Amino acid sequence: MEIRVLVIEDEQKMADLIKRGLEEEGMSVDVAGDGESGLEAGKSNEYEMIVLDLGLPGRNGVEIARELRAASIRTPILILTANDSTEMKVRGLDSGADDYLTKPFAFAELLARIRALHRRTTTDDVTRLQIGDLTLNLINRRVTRAGVEVQLTGKEFELLKCFMLHPDEVLSREILSEKVWEGSFDRLTNVIDVYINYLRNKIDRNFEPRLIDTVRGRGYLFRTPLSPSRQVAESKAS
Ligand code: CA
Repeated sequence: MEIRVLVIEDEQKMADLIKRGLEEEGMSVDVAGDGESGLEAGKSNEYEMIVLDLGLPGRNGVEIARELRAASIRTPILILTANDSTEMKVRGLDSGADDYLTKPFAFAELLARIRALHRRTTTDDVTRLQIGDLTLNLINRRVTRAGVEVQLTGKEFELLKCFMLHPDEVLSREILSEKVWEGSFDRLTNVIDVYINYLRNKIDRNFEPRLIDTVRGRGYLFRTPLSPSRQVAESKAS
């Protein structure tokens, strides 16, 4: 799965460097240039990782981390600090951050920390998938959209799970038949389309935005919706 990273960093050069480097590793990166917009974007809960500079104008990184945790945001936070003092590191970790890195750092080190944190949190927390306002619980098989419980049959559930594990990827009917039906594609092609319709009726018809797109001639794509705050962060970054 693609790792979505939010970088909260006021130094444009540093932010650009991190963004470019992580994108080269296949991650998707949004940048917030100050604490306030970083906090808003972080609260949207659309990230697997937050890289947070401690020295920010206005509200500093310690306050931002504390507020995110107070808002029940459990996204792992890696803090960056220009200050090598033990006190700063302790304050950062006390605020709810998971790890820290002292500036200047080698990019490889940043990457290694992000990968390790991501591994740790994804293996701890594989019970629930969430994309936008849609959640799927792998243990009790409960599915909700915008807080409303959605009743799915076994195959519909497996199909949705497959989409949520591969967001923003075009999944061909061949791939879906392998992953969900474990069967021969020729026999299943119409069955897949019928099930996509069932699923759309349940998770998309009465909600905005639509999550399942048809990609003509190629298959289907489960689209990650952009939250308003993420759009703001993206337009600021561009
Ligand atoms: Ca700074």
